Amino acid sequence: MSSRRDFFKRLVEPAIKEEKSSSPLYIRPPYVKDYSLFDKECIECEQKSCAKVCEENIIIIEAKGTPILNLQSSGCTFCQECAIACQKGVLSIEEGEEKINATFYINKDLCLSHNKNVCFSCKEPCIDNAILFKGMFEPIIDIEKCTACGFCLSRCPTKAIEFIIK
Ligand code: SF4
Ligand code: SF4
Ligand code: SF4
Repeated sequence: MSSRRDFFKRLVEPAIKEEKSSSPLYIRPPYVKDYSLFDKECIECEQKSCAKVCEENIIIIEAKGTPILNLQSSGCTFCQECAIACQKGVLSIEEGEEKINATFYINKDLCLSHNKNVCFSCKEPCIDNAILFKGMFEPIIDIEKCTACGFCLSRCPTKAIEFIIK
């Protein structure tokens, strides 16, 4: 399988891990009130307004009809528009958290900087300053600071930034 296809799979397809309900686990928009509501409410939602209002166009509707994030070319600005637009209370500014259900990390084998090349491609888009370098090399992602916005993902020339869906 090509690395390009692998990359896309990582972003938009369900992970192997299964939720308790046996639904596949996806990377979701922020402000989720209750993850079980995606299956209960979104499938029946005709408007899919969350996807229509997303200023970064990162919310896509998967085959079953629920919203997932595609971080292939952009990231989440936490603008709140998806939660404001959701009429069914699946996404809620008041009752959901401002976080995305993924943990980001750098694959050291693929990272240029971990292999003695100068590269700061991931650092610049990270406005939370969550990517920490030891001098000029060996970046790591500080999970306390990382919001899982995804902006670093598409900037890495070697696809060394990966994530685990929580
Ligand atoms: S607008 Fe709300 S209910 Fe409709 S698909 Fe989006 S999150 Fe689900
Ligand atoms: S918070 Fe804004 S940028 Fe992030 S997914 Fe929702 S609408 Fe898109
Ligand atoms: S996903 Fe984390 S490390 Fe990457 S740009 Fe966003 S906050 Fe920074």
